[in-house]
Amino acid sequence: MPAETLEFKAELKQLLHLITHSLYSDREIFLRELISNASDAINKVRFDSLANADRLEGNTDWKIKITPDKAANTLTISDNGIGMTRAEVVENLGTVAQSGTKAFLEAAKQSGRTGEAPGLIGQFGVGFYSAFMVADKVTVITRAPGTPADGTRWESDGQGAYSIEPTEKPARGTDVILHLKDDAKEFLDHWKLRSLVKKFSDFIEHPVVMDVEKQKDDAKEGESAKEITEETLNRRKAIWLRSKSEVKPEEYEEFYKQITHDADAPAATIHYAAEGKTEFKVLVFIPAHKPLSFDWEEPTAGLKLYVQRVLIMDQCEQLIPFYLRFVHGVVDSSDLPLNVSREILQQNPLLDVIQKSVVKNVLDTLGGMKNVEFDKYLAFYKGLGSVLKEGLTRDWTNREKIADLLLFESANTEPGKYTTLADYVEKMPADQNEIHYLIGESIEQLRRSPYLEAFKARGQDVLLMADPIDEFALPGLSEYKGKRLQAADRGDTSATDGDIPREVKDRFAGLLAATKETLPEVGDVRLSKRLTESAACLVADAAGMSAHMERLMERMGRGEGRSKRILELNPSNPAVEAARELHSRDPSDPRVETYARLLYEQAVIAEGSKVVDPSAFARRVNDLITRDAKV
Ligand code: ADP
Repeated sequence: MPAETLEFKAELKQLLHLITHSLYSDREIFLRELISNASDAINKVRFDSLANADRLEGNTDWKIKITPDKAANTLTISDNGIGMTRAEVVENLGTVAQSGTKAFLEAAKQSGRTGEAPGLIGQFGVGFYSAFMVADKVTVITRAPGTPADGTRWESDGQGAYSIEPTEKPARGTDVILHLKDDAKEFLDHWKLRSLVKKFSDFIEHPVVMDVEKQKDDAKEGESAKEITEETLNRRKAIWLRSKSEVKPEEYEEFYKQITHDADAPAATIHYAAEGKTEFKVLVFIPAHKPLSFDWEEPTAGLKLYVQRVLIMDQCEQLIPFYLRFVHGVVDSSDLPLNVSREILQQNPLLDVIQKSVVKNVLDTLGGMKNVEFDKYLAFYKGLGSVLKEGLTRDWTNREKIADLLLFESANTEPGKYTTLADYVEKMPADQNEIHYLIGESIEQLRRSPYLEAFKARGQDVLLMADPIDEFALPGLSEYKGKRLQAADRGDTSATDGDIPREVKDRFAGLLAATKETLPEVGDVRLSKRLTESAACLVADAAGMSAHMERLMERMGRGEGRSKRILELNPSNPAVEAARELHSRDPSDPRVETYARLLYEQAVIAEGSKVVDPSAFARRVNDLITRDAKV
């Protein structure tokens, strides 16, 4: 097949431009990216060979070799991994199919500010394309298992096109040849390369080697005093296999950055070896904040699974529950069978045992962080707390533990300060039996809600919730420490116990009946026990949908007409009293109807919903102003 010149996909052009122009200060990460690709490729062929040893071609001296060539001004990174077929080269090096890159492009587009690109790129990891930060031309010579004639040569200057042609490649694997830019000659320097490998790739499990000239100690007369030896630049011991006391914090951090592409250090590192009936090693991380690449729509969970030091799965879903999908890391077990299919492995009960252990450790670590390093915990919680809350409905056994990790503002906290369920329960007055909460659009609006009045009057606090997931997640937690959770805007609650005196009820009966007749949209009109100041509020039936839930459903296009709710009027409010007087003087006065509407509309506004006919509402208010001003 002759050489062909193909265009990069359009988006990739943009990306290459961003990378080469914005990431200058961090450009040395190209070496980390290329070495980690090489290491992945070796892991892949090792895994493949479990089922088919022929694919190894006897080439199992696993290594990644870096070769600086001052004369040619090139730096080559070679591996004897799985290599690529021609189709794979086109797919992998010519498109943005790769998820990290795609997510990056979307985030960059959304932010619309390419000035932020360096930070952004750092968080996504641009993999192979980072080579163009230091090279003005990149040549890839690669071959998948097969014969020497199956090789492919790919070359590009990163400007929008690449060429591809068949080539001979004796050994299976990949050579990535970087033709260094004039200002990137430092990457030919042995000392520089050594220090970069140490910094970024010390824990890569395969040896990263470089040929160096050494002085020969026993050189004979006439013999060259120098010899070339292959130096291994990394320590190689997989970081999770080392003992905790041996690993420096910087090493954990580098490893975390490598597997997550997060630019920041993790909030917590959990590293332990489980011993006993089953043995496994765990190294997992909790991120400090929600990663930019975190995708709610297409979320994935999973930890890397190694069995006897062979990477079996990059993302083993069995190892971590979905609601902890922000946790990254590695599990290594020698008790699992090596040569079975991934599908069968996924059903191995040992994976559940490991998952239980990992979950316990992650939740305990978060609990400790909340108690000891609250600010750090808060930063984590603000971004990822919503994900954690999914566990309330998904993980029954750990429900209470997850509940203990939740933070809430409440009617009694200052804005921006938080309480926990445990705190809340501890401070409950003796006569309070339930945990009250109110869900709405924003905490600010909730703080002004009329529903809080009765609770305040009784010295009871109400948890305020404005995270969209609360409405779905909270039902998962029907009670905490034996106390029922009760929405403050639904049905009766203990805070509104006690009856309204008969005499008051009789006095208002006429107004209530007239109001109900005026307002077909409400299910009932009654006197309120929960209001102390406001004139009116709307409550859902104990079994009905809350107002917030209805708004959510409507936004999702599922608002099949709102359920009828109950309008409560406060008999001690002067406006309600005035309406009553008017009605008792002359039930047919048209103003009775107007006032009933206005009381209803203010209740609609107070709960954060919209009045159906804003201009009619304005007209009614304007009439009042006009009349009032005349007196
Ligand atoms: P990522 O590694 O995040 O998937 P890259 O842009 O670094 O993204 O690489 C894209 C793909 O190209 C890889 O997923 C892999 O399939 C392939 N690839 C890259 N380098 C090598 C290599 N040295 N050997 C074999 N395949 C490789």
